[in-house]
Amino acid sequence: MQITGNGKVPPAKLPREYERCFAAENERPCATKKRFDRRSDLLLARECWEFGEFWSAYVPCGAAQLNAVQLSLEQIDVIRRLAEMNAQHLTLVTSVKGLIEAHREGKIASLIGVEGGHSLGNSLGVLRTFYGLGARYLTLTHACDTSWAVCSVGETNNTQDSTPGLSEFGKILFLIIFQAVVRELNRLGMLVDLSHVSTRTMRAALQTTRAPVIFSHSAARALCNSNRNVPDDVLRNLAKNGGVAMVPFYTYFITCNSTATIKDVIAHINHIRKVAGIDHVGIGAGFDGINFTTTGLEDVSRYPQLLATLLEDPTWTEDDIKKLAGLNLLRVFAKVEQVRDEWHRAAVLPVEKISPPDHSACVYGAS
Ligand SMILES: [Zn+2]
Repeated sequence: MQITGNGKVPPAKLPREYERCFAAENERPCATKKRFDRRSDLLLARECWEFGEFWSAYVPCGAAQLNAVQLSLEQIDVIRRLAEMNAQHLTLVTSVKGLIEAHREGKIASLIGVEGGHSLGNSLGVLRTFYGLGARYLTLTHACDTSWAVCSVGETNNTQDSTPGLSEFGKILFLIIFQAVVRELNRLGMLVDLSHVSTRTMRAALQTTRAPVIFSHSAARALCNSNRNVPDDVLRNLAKNGGVAMVPFYTYFITCNSTATIKDVIAHINHIRKVAGIDHVGIGAGFDGINFTTTGLEDVSRYPQLLATLLEDPTWTEDDIKKLAGLNLLRVFAKVEQVRDEWHRAAVLPVEKISPPDHSACVYGAS
């Protein structure tokens, strides 16, 4: 079972290119096929061992505090319609049970992830609604801060991020809201995704969460010093947390450059395996959200090549490959569901509010 951490759909419209994925011309051997225009080709994905994918409901940071919530709902609508339209290939799933059933039926299990806390509009009611619509992970930030979490942008090797411009009281409030969001994700049974967040936010989330977390598309910072990647100390804490770091194929996260090879991606996988352990590494990909792809991993047809190359290494067993390809993520998802069920039995209540009332003139109820 191959489950990918992060796949993109175009903004808020039903993508015609996905309809075209089923044309007869697509029926060629996947091992020889190269695609640069439709990297998440569904038929190819199914032929080439992809059995699960988180589709990212992503809206640009420019929409934060504007219509980010509406655009996010429209993205979720696109993903749901994509699955309905292509029901012979895809099935929308929201649970481990659903993932396993989809795998048995030979379909690509399609999961929804919301990529960026700005999509919530500072409302846990919106988060709960996203969950109700099927979303099963929240990336705490995209490339912009929220009023409760700091993103990786601006963080350099030598500087820790901070919460700029906040008073001491503001910092406490910031932390309280942050913890409330993480705990609500735990309570709902939604995965906490730490790709895109600052190092400090990664550490704070690992201290707060009661369930395993994921990095849906982040590599090892020790090999490519990008603030989008995960430092070794965080990888070690990730192992204690029981989570998984899923390696992307975007060259700038692999070599910090515009070119990378399949061997470079494998170096990241091996590094995470060495530091965190075989139970804590997965595949993040990032198709179609990336403009530079690794040579040899240009599209979904290349997954078999990646796994076959790993198997040539005698230190990789078939069981290791299974964990990398999907079992690790399944384990994390199952544990997240277990925490949700335990909290449900303990009658843990939802968090009602996460931000002070908005008194701006543009909101209903403003005086
Ligand atoms: Zn991303």
